[in-house]
Amino acid sequence: MSKRDYYEVLGVTKTAAEVEIKTAYRTLAMKHHPDRNPGDDEAASKFKEAAEAYAVLSDSEKRQIYDRHGFEGLQGVPMPDFGDLGGLFGGLGDILGGLFGGGRSRGPQRGAHLGMALEIDLIEAYRGCKKTVKVPRHDYCTECSGTGARHGSKPSRCRQCGGAGTTAVRMGPFQMSTPCNACGGEGTVITDPCPTCRGRGLVKVTRTLEIAIPPGADTGSRMTVRGEGETGDAGAPRGNLIIEIHVREHSFFTRKEDDLICEVPITFSQAALGAVIEVPSLDGKFTHTIRAGVQSGDVLRVPGKGMPIHGAGRFGDMRVVVIVETPKNLSERQEQLLRELAELDHKNVSARRKSFFEKLRVLFTGADANAKEKK
Ligand SMILES: [Zn+2]
Ligand SMILES: [Zn+2]
Repeated sequence: MSKRDYYEVLGVTKTAAEVEIKTAYRTLAMKHHPDRNPGDDEAASKFKEAAEAYAVLSDSEKRQIYDRHGFEGLQGVPMPDFGDLGGLFGGLGDILGGLFGGGRSRGPQRGAHLGMALEIDLIEAYRGCKKTVKVPRHDYCTECSGTGARHGSKPSRCRQCGGAGTTAVRMGPFQMSTPCNACGGEGTVITDPCPTCRGRGLVKVTRTLEIAIPPGADTGSRMTVRGEGETGDAGAPRGNLIIEIHVREHSFFTRKEDDLICEVPITFSQAALGAVIEVPSLDGKFTHTIRAGVQSGDVLRVPGKGMPIHGAGRFGDMRVVVIVETPKNLSERQEQLLRELAELDHKNVSARRKSFFEKLRVLFTGADANAKEKK
């Protein structure tokens, strides 16, 4: 998962001017835009790569951070997410229009994008899930069909602009037209407002949506539900709903990007002799062979047992942290065996549990037959 240098991605030098960066991005974006390459995953990932590079290099603050500290410096800096390519970027026309001004006629404006946070747990992130969300937003008033005029009445023509929606202003030798301020450019005014929406044409609603979250979603992942944002001008599309995922922490597994980390206790003898142990995963238990001589704190990587990698058809790793547990509450036989082992090791071990008075006696006389000081 090595990331290419942003300058390399755009094919520009480190000293490239803003306009060079724009041009380079524009060329790449046009070439790889998903609208032009439907179903082409490679193009999609190139598009994302370019978009991310552009997002950083076109922002002087982020570019400075990146120049000084590389990718690491950008960690924790809010970045756009390109989960749904069409969503945040709109179509090809938006890219060209948005980047270079012009190209986009001032027609009816699309609705604003709405954002919302959605919390899921780790298993839901692993399997993918469906969530019901309630989105507060505006819809056209059904009572007046969004006109804002009382049912049966009609907005009347604006007197100030005569229905043109614009007024002419002279500026030196030029005649400019600006939107009429009496009717806001509509050309009509509402004289008898709709009582339901008070003439606004819009009402507050709570829309209930079922959102399918794909396997592999992570905290900060964003999903775009097209056309479920705020309502736009008449004839213009609604904005999008952008959902930012937050994955709750799990009590047993820690997630590190696509990997899962868990601690598995093993016994002293398993550590010494090697063993086949059971390891829990989000998909049920699996067995894993540990070699003899594993140390407490050793990390065993098990490929493919981590989180699904969104869109890649693969899984991350499970990192099993082995914790060697020191035996407690030994049976007589266990204790005997361990003592034999200690003798083989020529190590000084504590004496057998003795009565309090025996212990005291040992303490004062120094006589302890079991503790051998050979080393
Ligand atoms: Zn209304
Ligand atoms: Zn007017």
